Amino acid sequence: MSSQRIDRKSRHEISLIRSAARINAETHVTVQNAIAPGVSTQELNDLAEAYILKSGGIPTFKGLYGFPATLCISVNDEVVHGLPNPQRILKEGDVVSIDCGTTYKGMVSDSAVTWGVGTISLELERLLKATEEGLLAGIAQMCPGNYLEDISGAIEDVCLHYGYGMVRNYGGHGVGRKPHEAPFIHNFRTGERGPRLEEGNVLAIEPMFNLGGDDVYTAEDEWTVITKDHLPSAHFEHTVVVTKGEPEILTLLP
Ligand code: MG
Ligand code: MG
Repeated sequence: MSSQRIDRKSRHEISLIRSAARINAETHVTVQNAIAPGVSTQELNDLAEAYILKSGGIPTFKGLYGFPATLCISVNDEVVHGLPNPQRILKEGDVVSIDCGTTYKGMVSDSAVTWGVGTISLELERLLKATEEGLLAGIAQMCPGNYLEDISGAIEDVCLHYGYGMVRNYGGHGVGRKPHEAPFIHNFRTGERGPRLEEGNVLAIEPMFNLGGDDVYTAEDEWTVITKDHLPSAHFEHTVVVTKGEPEILTLLP
């Protein structure tokens, strides 16, 4: 990774990303409220799309690189980029990752949450908690003067502490004017500290932890990323801005 500076957003751009992020967060709440055994992933997608449009936003992912839906919905051993499907019915005990992007007045936000469907096992509860903890540990490093790899290292440490598999092929990214901007953010140390963080950097931080091993593959649908050992995976993501003080998580509901 180059040590080039990371793009800094203006105050105005950040306020638009904040608006996009608020719609994104509210969309997650709308989806969360509908998650239950017997519900299809298509229904969740359609609720999200309606909510974003009603709120004056645009579903960022629909059409992005040819992706056909508003949400990426990934169930159990699916890691990311799962396709909503009316035949895919959620069952008690599943875990379902919802990844949502919203564009508002040209600016983009991106966030993801993994939910349990009904009651889930303690083993899965622990996986979800650990992955969210990894996300928050990464975000806590988003202070001016820190290096990009401080984020990666903090996430890696949480993953190692719990002994989970680490998805290595996917990671965080700059976000704002485009859905995916430089830099790519590994969820583990690579030995390159990368650029220093500066006020106004906006990053999507997104660890993916696996109950089993690290390895994943892409399904025949050419989208869905699945764990090789078919053990469950969790994914949490926020869009965050570096400020003079504490990092501001834009995709949290106030
Ligand atoms: Mg995302
Ligand atoms: Mg992302």
